[in-house]
Amino acid sequence: MSYDQLHLEGTPGCIYLRKSRKDIQAEREALEMGRPFDTLARHQEILMDLVKKYKINVVDVFTEVVSGEFIAEREEFQKALQNVDDGKYRWVAVVDEDRLGRGNKIDQGRIEKAFKDSGTLIVTPHKIVDMDDEADELYMDYKGMGARYEYKQTKKRLSGGRRKSAAEGKFMGARPNYGYLRGIDLKTEYPELIKTYADKAADIENLRLYPHPIEADVVKLIYRSVLNNIGIRTICKMLTGTYLTPSGGKNWARSTITHIVKKKVYKGWIVFGENKHIKQEDGSYLVKPAKPGQAIQNQKAHIPLVSDEEWEAAQKVLAGHTTVSVNSGKQLSNVFAGMLRCGFCGLTMTYQPRYKGTRAPRYTCTNPHCKENRSIVSEKIEQSVLENLELKYLSLNSDPNKEKKSTGKGSIDLFDNKLTSIKDELAVVESQLNEQFDLLERKVYTIELFMQRQNATMERKAALEQELQSIQGAVESRKEKDRLNHQFAPLLASIIQKFRSYDSVEDMNLLLKTVIDEIHYIKPRSAQLHADFTIDVVWKQ
Ligand SMILES: [Zn+2]
Repeated sequence: MSYDQLHLEGTPGCIYLRKSRKDIQAEREALEMGRPFDTLARHQEILMDLVKKYKINVVDVFTEVVSGEFIAEREEFQKALQNVDDGKYRWVAVVDEDRLGRGNKIDQGRIEKAFKDSGTLIVTPHKIVDMDDEADELYMDYKGMGARYEYKQTKKRLSGGRRKSAAEGKFMGARPNYGYLRGIDLKTEYPELIKTYADKAADIENLRLYPHPIEADVVKLIYRSVLNNIGIRTICKMLTGTYLTPSGGKNWARSTITHIVKKKVYKGWIVFGENKHIKQEDGSYLVKPAKPGQAIQNQKAHIPLVSDEEWEAAQKVLAGHTTVSVNSGKQLSNVFAGMLRCGFCGLTMTYQPRYKGTRAPRYTCTNPHCKENRSIVSEKIEQSVLENLELKYLSLNSDPNKEKKSTGKGSIDLFDNKLTSIKDELAVVESQLNEQFDLLERKVYTIELFMQRQNATMERKAALEQELQSIQGAVESRKEKDRLNHQFAPLLASIIQKFRSYDSVEDMNLLLKTVIDEIHYIKPRSAQLHADFTIDVVWKQ
């Protein structure tokens, strides 16, 4: 039917925009070539030309951002279809009929019926389809069949292309893993990093992963902490408020940490098609592991953030990490003897294995003149002390500049420079003294002049020697402090490990005393029974 018989001019209708899988692939390829474009904007231009040509009235524009297979998952299309059902439009404009539906016969029937019953036309750049027209109905049936066939073929072909790219080590997902950037994003967002990874920008591959300047350090820190037996809870505590989570939130969850530790991407692998995502009618996915041998792996895809050995070791630690319940009720004596003090009166807390007939041992302040502190279950104190040990350990280790800091290399270098310059100056002073003698011998200097000059030079020499001594002393004490620092961190690490399960309370008590001076505990009487308490650990250093 020709369009002037259809009386289109001035009639209301809508534009419906949706990308096909082919469009998405084309966009990705263009991106890879460095020529990104926006499919939907192009389509809108094409359809607006039609609107101009037919002089029709656009009432709505629906833009589908998801690439949905079923009507149920395409919210914008549902709105358009409802308006078609309601007879609101004379026409619906799309770049191709297949944008309305595809891949599912039931949906196809539902769409055709809506258009037929309401007498709504489908306007495309190459044809106006009237479902009331028998020829057009047949045409749509044929298109539907063709679309279904072509859809299946495309899906197969595209997934073949994606598997091939993944095998080459390219990242094919929508969002790179936390800790990494795609090359294309590195070039646009962090151009200053290009030199770190390649001679020129062209050598940075758009779809390859590169370490993110901040997030990569966080990932490394997480692995390092896990490998040092730091509890996941403590890692969350440390990261919360310091770094944003992968989704941009504030609070790090334990699942986020374990998820990161389990990902092979961090040892430089690209794994593609490990799970099969089977789409359901409602748009949700059923995730099933793929058959063995079906997943694509590239084990040298990009720069790893952890070594193979570290990654493997972290899996083992993670598997053994249970929620820490330190020595649940095993010990019957005070592991914090001589350390745990009431934060109000300062006296040591008393350990009571059978506090008022209850089963859980508790600590209480038994000072009759101090009635400020609530008693506390000993396990809670143990848990809290463990967290403090872990945090202390991390604070000694987590600083990204720690290499410099822990050895104090920067300041030692400064001292070294200063020492050299003093020694140089001393040498000059020595030669001045010699020269003064020489000048005296050659009678250039009178004895008075000689003494005057010599006194000045000797004073200068004494001052320099004193400075030299004090700097040498500072260097020594600095080195000593570094040495202690170096011992303290491994000591903490071994205590943390042992504290998770120990047999001898006495041994543990002695070990704790090597790093802890005192622990001050506070929970005011006025506080609620289950309110938080505070402990303040005074470290040996
Ligand atoms: Zn007290």
